[in-house]
Amino acid sequence: MPPVAEPSAPSPPGARPGPARAQCPYCGVGCGLELKPGEPAPDPEASPASWTVRGDRQHPSSLGQVCIKGATVAETLDQNRLVQPQWRERLDQPFRPIDWEQAYAILIHQIQHTLASQGPSGLAMYGSGQFLTEDYYVANKLFKGALGSNNFDANSRLCMSSAVAGYARSLGSDGPPCCYDDLDLSDLVLLIGTNTADCHPVLFQRLLKRKRKLKAALQIVVVDPRATTTSDAADLHLAIRPGTDLVLLHGLGHLLLLQGAIDRAFIDQHTEGFAALETLWQAWTPERVSALCGISIPQLEQLAQLWARSSAVLSLWSMGVNQSREGTATVGGLINLHLVSGQIARPGAGPFSLTGQPNAMGGREAGGLAQLLPGYRAIANPAHRAEVERHWGFAPGAIASQPGLAVWQQVEAMERGELGLWWVAATNPLVSLPWLDRVRAAAQACPLVVLSEAYAGTETAAVAHLLLPAAQWSEKAGVMTNSERRLTLCPAFRQPPGEARADWEIFAELGRRLGFVSQFNFDSAAAVWQEFSALTVGRVCDLSGLSHRLLAEHGPQQWPFPQGCAPGEGQARLYGDRRFPTDSGRARLIAEQPLGLAEPPCDQFPLVLTVGRYLGHWHTMTRTAQVERIQQRHPEPLLEVNPMDARRYGLVDGALGQVRSRRGAVSAKVMVTDRIRPGTLFLPMHWGASQELACEANRLMHELGCPISKQPELKAAAVTLEPVILKPVTLKPVTLKPVTLEPVSLKPLA
Ligand code: SF4
Repeated sequence: MPPVAEPSAPSPPGARPGPARAQCPYCGVGCGLELKPGEPAPDPEASPASWTVRGDRQHPSSLGQVCIKGATVAETLDQNRLVQPQWRERLDQPFRPIDWEQAYAILIHQIQHTLASQGPSGLAMYGSGQFLTEDYYVANKLFKGALGSNNFDANSRLCMSSAVAGYARSLGSDGPPCCYDDLDLSDLVLLIGTNTADCHPVLFQRLLKRKRKLKAALQIVVVDPRATTTSDAADLHLAIRPGTDLVLLHGLGHLLLLQGAIDRAFIDQHTEGFAALETLWQAWTPERVSALCGISIPQLEQLAQLWARSSAVLSLWSMGVNQSREGTATVGGLINLHLVSGQIARPGAGPFSLTGQPNAMGGREAGGLAQLLPGYRAIANPAHRAEVERHWGFAPGAIASQPGLAVWQQVEAMERGELGLWWVAATNPLVSLPWLDRVRAAAQACPLVVLSEAYAGTETAAVAHLLLPAAQWSEKAGVMTNSERRLTLCPAFRQPPGEARADWEIFAELGRRLGFVSQFNFDSAAAVWQEFSALTVGRVCDLSGLSHRLLAEHGPQQWPFPQGCAPGEGQARLYGDRRFPTDSGRARLIAEQPLGLAEPPCDQFPLVLTVGRYLGHWHTMTRTAQVERIQQRHPEPLLEVNPMDARRYGLVDGALGQVRSRRGAVSAKVMVTDRIRPGTLFLPMHWGASQELACEANRLMHELGCPISKQPELKAAAVTLEPVILKPVTLKPVTLKPVTLEPVSLKPLA
């Protein structure tokens, strides 16, 4: 492969760095940031240069807007970093520093031992939407190509896998069909299962600005069991019972049918499966839907009227829909409504998933889930496997024919002693996975747990044997894709600390040391990108016309962006020709009955706990706990309890409440509020065991999930509630010894 030059590189140590533009490394809105170096530090070794951050006005996705997380990201770059590989043989030993040679020797020994004793299925990696696309690509090539193990999964499994499966089932391929400009063109925005104000704040502010201007001409409907800053802006808030989203969508379909508010021409020409869906919808009467969802019939009718009379309906969803036993079915239920009413593939209209992680979209493009291959290909498809094997330079059959283990299956495999290596990279599953005690015990049983991390002391490090210091965003070059399919080159503009290395470099070096020299002979992230992008030719996510250089020179671009496409000519929306990438060219209408919660409330656990996020904190707080402004804004996790439940369980505002599920219990300060519906509790998911105020909400959640997407139902578990009675402390009587005071002779004052 000819060398591919990086268009940018960090300034050498000691030199004054220049300004940089990049995508924000937090949420999937993918705002543009402009970073400028502050005054040089007197001793750059002791204290690295500071950076000021502001929104990048030239970034088309965010136009200069930024939220508190993006604005403070520079404060998180240097503290608490992991700077050297560390190793311990047993988990009860302290880590000791080692060098990279020793680290690779440990990895190679365990990989070879596992391959010999258990085969490729004994190796697994759990990666991250914090990866740059180049990291994803090389990790996939290493596991699925070189090692023959499809057990490469990522934390997008917890975030977006239901959206991936739902788009593929209904439309024939993954890929959000909409773009952010659609927010400015719709007259009805339905926000379902998304607290956009806190989780995608810059997009929400864009919507709010338009709402203030247009008033009733733009209608906002929010579906969420909890009142949030998002629902405060809504014309209609449907506080449905947790687990009834699909019931609501079918009920809406029923009313659209009744009102004749369907697009017969679109259905006939561009879809299949309408007869079965029509039969299913007919059974979902307003009475049934109202009783199950816990909303009134007039509220449901109001939603149907709004949908029927709107010229452009945009639906936004996020984890409230995806993290569910029926996540894929609910995504299908939402896409059904758009297809049947012709509200898709035109300006202002369509089903639009908002991605959680900054580069979960890039991960999907690079095949970063256990059932995927790069370019939106599927492992189960023999032709796709053959194409990728050829491109990667491996022999036919190198890629195993069965999809690999999704993350919860990896946990179960560790429990059964079937994994010899669990490699976690750029994520913190010991806070973010459900049923944390079980995950902890499973990981403790695995012979080698490797953690590639930028930060020291995360909860996952407690179960790791080998720590590998990773360069993070700003210290390595690569591409991220945001929720509207827009790619931004994130340059390396700072030196990584100590011995930290880019994830893709760590994986490529290991590949070469395992004997796959030509396959991993990358000399730059730009070269990795070139190889990856060539694999997308002719695919829905064709981005083969993009290079690091083009992105550096012309700024962020949307895909599809095939070879020959000029800057700015990437497609804003998919399927404008109404042809869908299915065998028939028609979109599929999905007729599925709702299943409800996997763990419904019962006599012993009569409440439903749902978890979510605060505006300022990011996931497991590895970064944001370091920012004083954010800590002041969200100093502690609060357990939200409806006043009726507070009375019933003997709790008052500010008291300590204990929430208990079948898997454990956690305590938090109670906030009594009517913003959560009776029978439902809310906890933030951010606080892990290593935080001073440990409140591991995900300890309580169960592992059951959507059978299609394998996304766990992290949004709902059956729990009970009780006050924490602090035991009175009995003080032992203390016998004071008599003190004999020495006589003091006072001198007369002069
Ligand atoms: S909205 Fe998301 S991408 Fe934008 S600045 Fe905030 S965290 Fe970053």
